[in-house]
Amino acid sequence: MADAKPGPVLRLVDVHKAYAPGTPVELEVLHGVNLVVDHGEFAALIGPSGSGKSTLLNLIGLLDTPTGGEISINGNETRKLNDLDLTRLRGRSIGFVFQYSCLLPEFTAAENVLMPLLANRGWPDAAMTKTAEALLEQVGLGPWQDHMAGDLSGGQQQRVAIARALAMQPALVLADEPTGNLDTKSADGVFDLLRSVNRTLGTTFLIVTHDPRLANRCDRIVELVDGRIVSDRPNPDPVRQVRREAAIAASSPDSINQGVNHE
Ligand code: ADP
Repeated sequence: MADAKPGPVLRLVDVHKAYAPGTPVELEVLHGVNLVVDHGEFAALIGPSGSGKSTLLNLIGLLDTPTGGEISINGNETRKLNDLDLTRLRGRSIGFVFQYSCLLPEFTAAENVLMPLLANRGWPDAAMTKTAEALLEQVGLGPWQDHMAGDLSGGQQQRVAIARALAMQPALVLADEPTGNLDTKSADGVFDLLRSVNRTLGTTFLIVTHDPRLANRCDRIVELVDGRIVSDRPNPDPVRQVRREAAIAASSPDSINQGVNHE
């Protein structure tokens, strides 16, 4: 794993974030966030709209800088790094999956997965092509590797985006509402894929979702309200939670209509 140093995959110490700092319209939206995520965790970040989840994810993804506190990724204290080293650390240690797959539609699935490898190396080689093909196999899209990304279904595109996020074998994958744009069946498939990547490769996941059903399937649920972590709890038995949700849904009067809608 690139740039790995001893320590957790993610450590936030007293992280603050203010927009427009030092101006009359300064707005602090994160007020001293502390969080440690260890290697191999599968955690959900939940919270109401406006609570600061995207802001926090941007900081963790090294897309923005905090106005106070320290963020360490894979044991690297980011405050000490210059822009080039931050970009390097981000490219090698962090994968991103967004609500919209953000693929290049005029490129094939395999070419999309190659992009981060190309960005890192600068030129393609046979090993990179093999890596892209293997990743697409892993996400169940082996036969689709030469199809244009724009021709794939929403669920398939999100699988390509997951393969792309894994291309650099990142220690940490940040997923922002990764199933928010999918129907229930595709969403379940994509979520199961994330889970299986976590189990088989040991990749750490931090998944932002406002869907309690998905959060309940994670091993840990961190809740942010008004820029502060108000609860951080292990989810003792995600499988039992899923069964309980299914039983509640089946016994609800709405479930008949839901079933019709999904046919
Ligand atoms: P969430 O992802 O939980 O919905 P956000 O992180 O998007 O929350 O937003 C938290 C707060 O920060 C909101 O009040 C939002 O209006 C504000 N905010 C987000 N981005 C900016 C920005 N670029 N400039 C100023 N305020 C912002």
